[in-house]
Amino acid sequence: MPRVSSRFVGLGVGFAPYLQPPGPEVIRWTVGEPGFDTPSQIIDAAIHGLKEGKTKYTRGPGSIELCEAVAEYLEIHHDIEASADEIVVTPGAKQALLYSFLITTMPGDEAILLSPSWASYEPMLEFIGAVPVHVKVNMEDFHPDLVAIRDAITDKTRMILINSPCNPTGAVFTPEEIGEIVDIAVENDLWIVSDEIYGRMVWVDWPHVSPSTLPGGKERTIVVNGWSKSWAMTGMRIGFLTGPSDAMKAAVKSQANSASHIPTFMMDAAKVALECEDSVREFNREYLKRREMMMEGLSSLPGIRVPEPEGAFYVFADVTGTGMTDIEFADGALEAGVQLIPASLITGGEGFVRVSYAADEEDILEGLRRLRSWLLQE
Ligand code: PLP
Repeated sequence: MPRVSSRFVGLGVGFAPYLQPPGPEVIRWTVGEPGFDTPSQIIDAAIHGLKEGKTKYTRGPGSIELCEAVAEYLEIHHDIEASADEIVVTPGAKQALLYSFLITTMPGDEAILLSPSWASYEPMLEFIGAVPVHVKVNMEDFHPDLVAIRDAITDKTRMILINSPCNPTGAVFTPEEIGEIVDIAVENDLWIVSDEIYGRMVWVDWPHVSPSTLPGGKERTIVVNGWSKSWAMTGMRIGFLTGPSDAMKAAVKSQANSASHIPTFMMDAAKVALECEDSVREFNREYLKRREMMMEGLSSLPGIRVPEPEGAFYVFADVTGTGMTDIEFADGALEAGVQLIPASLITGGEGFVRVSYAADEEDILEGLRRLRSWLLQE
């Protein structure tokens, strides 16, 4: 009997055990997915593409029209300068992250993750033989510990990953913090992979700033982004990466030798999405309301500390004050009819639970009622 290669031994699956659909009576605060329908113009464009026969192989990094539209979008919304041939459109931001890791590390090289970080980074790095090095953020506000980052750098470090706004913590790093991380990368000649998938969801006074826009940042930053979150397109699987032209030549090769390209009929739909500003703004107004509801509701429960979620659509709540571990808390909540994620499933998350407020308003209110009656034995 042939054996499955050893690279899968012990490889994590992140939050997967807690993402299983529970019974219909359970409220799900687990899934990192917008609770909105995909805007209809996007769906119409995809159907139109199919009917027009856009079902054949095409340009690997994405149609030139789509890549031009992405470049224009990046300039308008994120101040990022990129030409169309420096954009590679991928099957989801996840695939773009995989290419970025392949481009920036060789087996045995170290990559710094600011932990607790999104559950897929660590296994994805391990998958390709790179070594994730976890540097814990400040657990009061989830902002980076710059001294600890410097201390973690060795002669094997090749890359620092930034994810701001952050899943799972909701932190939005300040422009100064991003600037300091760029300085550290410049001093040590490191790559930065900047996962900006929540870049349009910022709820605080300071802006999301891409490291690629700061002095010294452009030539060492690969920006990853995608359509899943701000346009409610998770199942359509479209993301992209951009960066220095050598890195993008490598990204083109990565895609040519794996996915080839995103579905041809989705290319126009992705372009149409970039014009759906009204939907992005409308979703954001709703997220702001839901964020208030969730923050207020959770803060009023005994033993739960709720640091302010600055961006994205997650609350990362400290449950140590309840006397339970995060696993005990998540299991108890599930029994009470609310599914949430115990953060000890990821490095550095012990004592916290992740709650998504992308759920609809009724589910937020009913979930809070259930937690209240469980914790207060009402
Ligand atoms: N990066 C972060 C931080 C995420 O939270 C997610 C999805 O949950 C992704 C990347 C993946 O996005 P996509 O659906 O485009 O693959």
